[in-house]
This record gives sequence, C-alpha cells and structure tokens, in this order.
Amino acid sequence: MNADLRELYQDIILDHNRHPRNRGRLDGSHRQAEGHNPLCGDNVTVYIQTENDRVTQVAFEGQGCAISTASASMMTLAVQGKTLSEAEKIFREFQSMVTETGDAQPHPDLGDLEVLAGVREYPVRIKCATLPWHTLHAALTGGGEVSTE
Ligand code: ZN
Repeated sequence: MNADLRELYQDIILDHNRHPRNRGRLDGSHRQAEGHNPLCGDNVTVYIQTENDRVTQVAFEGQGCAISTASASMMTLAVQGKTLSEAEKIFREFQSMVTETGDAQPHPDLGDLEVLAGVREYPVRIKCATLPWHTLHAALTGGGEVSTE
C-alpha cells in the first residue's frame, strides 16, 4: 500500500472514530447483542430493528479503541437497509477480508470498509475490527453476548 493511500485510509478511520455514525441506543429495538474484546477492552452493544427480513435501523453503543469504533460506525452504514441474508454476507466478506493471508484481494462489495483491511498486518487489531461484526451477527441470529476470546 502506498503512503498516500495509507493516509487516506487513516483519515477515514479517524473521521468515523471522532464522529461515529448511528451511535446510540435504539428504543424498542427488536434485537440486540453485546460484544466484548477483553484483549483491548472494547465493549459494544449493537441494536437492530428489522421489518420483513430487512434491517431498517441499526445503531451501536459502547466504549472502544479507534478501530473498533470506526468499524462499528462503518458497519451500521453498510448493513442499513440490507436484507438479513445480505447483512450476513457482508459480515462474512468483512471477516474474510481482515483474516485472509497472502496478497490483499479486492472487496468491491465492502465499499469504505476496505480501509480496515490494513488491520491484517496487526493481529491484535483484527479482534477490534471484527468485534462489532460478531456482535451484529449475534444480534441477527438471536441476540446474547459474544466475546472475542
Ligand atoms: Zn480495540
């Protein structure tokens, strides 16, 4: 990755960390789940509202590092309006993007989320990036609590 691109990616992550989108509790949310990443101390609660198998609203709350907050913020934008199976597909694609080894593969379906591909180089940070996604997955599949350990 060249330096300019790295800087651009950094800017997007910092922007989402400073101004997280869809942060807050959803009142009367149909499903929610809590996630913890003890390694870093990230905590996140994901709320989703669904209608006819479609995610109509998604929000998150919690305290975490810049990577987990930015990932949660971008996740809410990525899955809003998607069907449950589309949201699951994005979850799986994100998961494979940050854990795949070898040369980085393009993930055009992920849009801005591609900026988080850089965490592949920092194994400790992978859990920060995937925490909101595992929590989303738990919320989509029935709620409860997840831990990255
Ligand atoms: Zn973290």
